[in-house]
Amino acid sequence: MARYRGPACKLCRREGQKLFLKGFKCYTAKCTMDKRNFAPGMHGRRRAKLSPYGEQLREKQKVRRMYGILEKQFRLLFEKASQKKGKTGDVLLQMLETRLDNVVYRAGLAPARTTARMFVVHNHVTVNGRRVNVPSFQVRSGDVVAVKESDKSRKLAAEHLKMTESRIVPRWIDLDREKFIAKITDIPSREDIEAPINEQLIVELYSK
Ligand code: SF4
Repeated sequence: MARYRGPACKLCRREGQKLFLKGFKCYTAKCTMDKRNFAPGMHGRRRAKLSPYGEQLREKQKVRRMYGILEKQFRLLFEKASQKKGKTGDVLLQMLETRLDNVVYRAGLAPARTTARMFVVHNHVTVNGRRVNVPSFQVRSGDVVAVKESDKSRKLAAEHLKMTESRIVPRWIDLDREKFIAKITDIPSREDIEAPINEQLIVELYSK
């Protein structure tokens, strides 16, 4: 399972907005975007006006980086989304939101998506009582995502929950902080995804 291993803050600087890739640091004054809000590299301070294609490409890169997905996997996800009923852009975002690693992150069981991914990969999470260590696993309405019943897993989850206590858990996740259980009560709608994303640009890019 490949993933980007380079500097996270550089990605935010490239996209010109906070992608919240580093967990706790992103919510403090130490966030790099608060200090150096310009693209990396020698000419980073000069943000050139983008062509329509450039805008579509940047939007796709932003979303891909936000969710920590590599190009090939993102493309496959788009193809799956385009085969489902509904607006492709909405379905794509819904599929991104219902990835297991994202659910763990949204529930506050991990401070960042990268941490959530590792938390899943290292077997700390169960879905409906069964261990699942695949970050891209798609959860459904009614599923119960829980932290494995082991001291190590629960200690880690408790630390993460403390870090994320100021974050709001989305309405489609019912979190029991005492039991480390996140129940999926609904599938997120477009309105539930508050991140500034123009999914139509991604649809246009891949429809060329
Ligand atoms: Fe992005 Fe977080 Fe780094 Fe800020 S601290 S630039 S939001 S990854």
